[in-house]
Amino acid sequence: MDKDKASEKLMKRVVKSANGCWEWQGGKSGGYGHIVFKGRETWLCHRLAWFLANGDIPKGKFVCHRCDNPSCCNPEHLFLGSSVENTTDRHDKRRDATGEQNGSSKLSDSQVDEIRKRYDGQYGRLKQLAQEYNVSSDQIRNIIRGRQRMSKVSEVNWTTCRLRRSGTSPTEHLGGKKSKTT
Ligand SMILES: [Zn+2]
Repeated sequence: MDKDKASEKLMKRVVKSANGCWEWQGGKSGGYGHIVFKGRETWLCHRLAWFLANGDIPKGKFVCHRCDNPSCCNPEHLFLGSSVENTTDRHDKRRDATGEQNGSSKLSDSQVDEIRKRYDGQYGRLKQLAQEYNVSSDQIRNIIRGRQRMSKVSEVNWTTCRLRRSGTSPTEHLGGKKSKTT
């Protein structure tokens, strides 16, 4: 992706509010803004914003909001959370947004189905499928286990992430109220 163009496209539809949030004005799902490039590459805006500011999102990490504002794309309001701290409410918080918005999830829904059908449990098949679809073995494993794809999982987890909205001590925020950081 052309980062300059991506950044331009992102900022075009962002309105900076008084509290420092950069509010995405375009399409949203579940409160999270999304942005489409060339009609096929879809990103969630805050993930894109983090990526543009910091580089690749490490595998297994989720981009979370300190500000409790899912449509916010201000990199300074974003932080990386790990999956471990966010596994609790993945089931009831499922959101049905795109699964193709980041580098670790390049698979379409039909590819996911294909992989499930094609996996026959043979030794080495996992790796082979991973190579063939150009994703990690872990991702294939998750798909086979019928788990949500990384992107969907991460989508689910932001909500939990936001409860933590740390930067300081995690416990400080755990029982905390829902007040917005300004
Ligand atoms: Zn914000």
